[in-house]
Amino acid sequence: MTTTDTNATTSDLVEIPIGQLDAHPHNIRRSLGSLDDLVRSIRTLGVLEPLIVMPADHNGRHVIVAGHRRLAAATKADLATVPCVVRSMNEADVLEAMLAENGDGIRARITLVEEAEAYARLMTLRDGLTVKSLASRVGRSQSYVRSRLVVLALPSKALDRLHRGDFTLDVATALAKAADDPALIDQLLDSDRLDEWTIERAVKARATERQRSDREADVVAAGHRLLATDGTKTAQRLDALLTERADRRRHAKEPCHAVAVQSGWGGPVVVEYCTDPRRHRASTPAEQRSPITATPTRATDTTDDERRKADSTAKAARRQFLADKVANGGLAQAATARFAFQALVATVNQQRATVVARTLRLNTTSDGGTTGAGAALADHAMASARQLATVAALIAAAEADEHAGPYRPSYSDDPLLVAYYRWLTDLGYQPTDQERQLLDTPTD
Ligand SMILES: [Zn+2]
Repeated sequence: MTTTDTNATTSDLVEIPIGQLDAHPHNIRRSLGSLDDLVRSIRTLGVLEPLIVMPADHNGRHVIVAGHRRLAAATKADLATVPCVVRSMNEADVLEAMLAENGDGIRARITLVEEAEAYARLMTLRDGLTVKSLASRVGRSQSYVRSRLVVLALPSKALDRLHRGDFTLDVATALAKAADDPALIDQLLDSDRLDEWTIERAVKARATERQRSDREADVVAAGHRLLATDGTKTAQRLDALLTERADRRRHAKEPCHAVAVQSGWGGPVVVEYCTDPRRHRASTPAEQRSPITATPTRATDTTDDERRKADSTAKAARRQFLADKVANGGLAQAATARFAFQALVATVNQQRATVVARTLRLNTTSDGGTTGAGAALADHAMASARQLATVAALIAAAEADEHAGPYRPSYSDDPLLVAYYRWLTDLGYQPTDQERQLLDTPTD
């Protein structure tokens, strides 16, 4: 036997005894799939398409480049020899031939993972090969190749399950976004629901949590005292306690100063707190008092009565301001809608919060407690204006459901119910006869 030049190609069709053929050590196929149909076809028609094999080695053995399934089926069909084309190829050529062979659906397809691994190896074998040039060599789009390379970032446990067909490429792509967090991937793989939506939510929640803890680390590094999550209940927000900007700045040096990192519209925000508001009250004995007082304009002996009076003056001023605003062309749309929704979310009753949190499949505290539902709902609503609108609508729906029922006297003409049923119908809901009756009631 002679060894051929690396790049020489010969195309002589020869019959080679099955016993002289070896599987390629890097065959991209992890499994051969069902061979029954192929065995049957080979028994009646023989091997129609020749195998591609490497030139024989010094023992007269040929390594198969393409045709592993055909060889396995021919062996089962008890053939002595199979038709082969002998071709000298390097490993990259071999891989490309394997990928091309598996490109169309006639043969049992290689799995996503096998295909992805083959692309990755091809990129290491062919120096300077870009995704673009690789895609054109194997006759695929760039996004097709890239989407397969992306999943290789997954840990082997996830790749094994993808290989077994436990989930789709879309799910794998979503999972790959958490590839740097094997614990999260494990957790997702073990969960009952493994869909893109659930994964994206988990990845987003993790990103938010990371942002928050990064921010907390910054705040601690800057020398601030960080308030524990439940610490914000007893502390008071600084901007509510101290109205002067200069006082708020000075407060940072006080022992009662602390900060908390909270979720805001555009990501985590640092909120300043005072952990001991009494220190700023004029009524507190001088030796326990901070030099910064809570109400600088009325620093001396402010009584509760005076404060109440100031509060009601301020309230009247706010109402007057809003009345003027409405009279002079109305309120700015986006901010107004946002505040209205926020108020709705903030004031929702806990039982309804639980109903809405379940509708949104939000993770609440393990015992399904109502406090957990309220917090989860607020977090979800704060993530975007769109989510806030969804939460608001679901709260309204939960409220309307409380109104529905034969024992409600207002049932027949409840405007909330009418609006609710109309909304559902607009979304494609098929109303019952009773619901339709309500919708058909003329309104004034
Ligand atoms: Zn303070």
